[in-house]
Amino acid sequence: MAQQEDVFKKIVAHCKEYGFVFPSSEIYDGLGAVYDYGQNGVELKNNIKRYWWDAMVKLNENIVGIDSAIFMHPTIWKASGHVDAFNDPLIDNKDSKKRYRADVLIEEQIAKYDDKIAKEVAKAAKKFGDSFDKEKFLATSVHCQEHQAKRDALHARYAKAMNDNNLEELRQIIIDEEIVCPISGTKNWTDVRQFNLMFSTEMGSTADGSMKIFLRPETAQGIFVNFLNVQKTGRMKIPFGIAQIGKAFRNEIVARQFIFRMREFEQMEMQFFVRPGEELKWFEHWKKVRLNWHKALGMGDENYRYHDHDKLAHYANAATDIEFRMPFGFKEVEGIHSRTNFDLSQHQKYSGKKIQYFDPELNENYVPYVIETSIGVDRMFLSILCGAYTEEVVGDNDTRVVLKLPAVLAPVKAAIMPLVKKDGLPEKAREIIDSLKFDFNVQYDEKDSIGKRYRRQDAIGTPFCITVDHQTLEDGTVTIRERDTMEQERVAASELRNIINAKTSFTELFKKLM
Ligand code: ATP
Repeated sequence: MAQQEDVFKKIVAHCKEYGFVFPSSEIYDGLGAVYDYGQNGVELKNNIKRYWWDAMVKLNENIVGIDSAIFMHPTIWKASGHVDAFNDPLIDNKDSKKRYRADVLIEEQIAKYDDKIAKEVAKAAKKFGDSFDKEKFLATSVHCQEHQAKRDALHARYAKAMNDNNLEELRQIIIDEEIVCPISGTKNWTDVRQFNLMFSTEMGSTADGSMKIFLRPETAQGIFVNFLNVQKTGRMKIPFGIAQIGKAFRNEIVARQFIFRMREFEQMEMQFFVRPGEELKWFEHWKKVRLNWHKALGMGDENYRYHDHDKLAHYANAATDIEFRMPFGFKEVEGIHSRTNFDLSQHQKYSGKKIQYFDPELNENYVPYVIETSIGVDRMFLSILCGAYTEEVVGDNDTRVVLKLPAVLAPVKAAIMPLVKKDGLPEKAREIIDSLKFDFNVQYDEKDSIGKRYRRQDAIGTPFCITVDHQTLEDGTVTIRERDTMEQERVAASELRNIINAKTSFTELFKKLM
């Protein structure tokens, strides 16, 4: 575990050193849980957004996109339930004065039981070798059964407390499980209180009378309040979806895991409107489609899993998370929720406008049901970086840090390097850049030895390094080095476009989704 934490620290440092992510307002000592994306970060982020947007809007005839404003009428947040219920249960440790989310403390405790079981299994697997039967072992090991029973009891108690909104019981669970503050090591806890996560601000001058408005905590409501606009102007027929990418803001209580939990972040959300009664079928459909989207990137199928929700949000009748194996455990990257017709009905009620769909096949009006897929751009970014970060021993006593990013997402697709800074090689390299730059993000690099230049590109995940040497001037060939295998090949410069395209174009990736 400590080793994994070290890896995470290294990833955070790497993000800063190589221009991926900087702390916001750093020269003023930063601002809690707010981050800026640097020159490489923004490229990776834009590629992630493009992968999501095109997979939704370009590949699905019945999904369209919008871009709604961050500021919205404050009644929207009353109707959606956020004013009254967008809360996290918080608890303070009186000795360290540190604040925690009570639900997170308990979920971590549940994960500890899971870890204990996993350790027993790993120990036994080692002992019995090929003849090991995991199912049989789980069914017969006394230790595993004890851990499982404790886990299940805790889980049931926690789920009930969350569903009943029982804050005293949440505190009691923390006491009974003897959960300690990781900083002070004590069990000296305050009561559990609810804390609303929305940021508010004022709109309009005070002379006119200003209005308290909220920074949106999710992009979804911008889609719901535009349902009729899009349905009518786009002549959309149910089932259909509306997609949106945009900033969201939450005043998170605990924000200590880099870009995993930020106060300003970006979401990619798609609301899919369906006939009442068909929502659970579509929920299953989107669960599968979304997991495939993640897996198609080739970061290893074993690094993803579903996690079904215990406490369904007030609007949902089914919900699951897609989790990715981060260095600090499996964590939610995306949520898929069956939101019933809650949101549209609420907006119908609060706005006084009829928000319904006339279904020509059924010959009836109804308020559509909704399946939501909601993914954080920043969390996706973090999962990709964690999955890609690799330290490798190369040759004798040498190591390299390489980001094995999916080539389509890499910030720079190819670096073009003249072997030396003279003899017309830089000019030739620039010529090659000019022939590639309309199609790919390419970089020129002439400083330091070729070896050092390779390492620099490995560190930002560039799939190809292309070296221009004296032979290039004679026969128009270059060497092309592949990031992961480090193999080099001599090819005609005129072939580069095809070679780079074959590996980095979105087309092949999209085909995997169909
Ligand atoms: P959590 O339980 O981690 O707080 P959530 O279940 O409240 O997350 P949702 O409201 O379902 O999250 O939001 C959808 C997605 O938005 C999440 O899966 C996550 O990727 C992203 N997200 C939510 N909150 C944050 C945040 N504070 N920082 C970065 N990304 C976030």
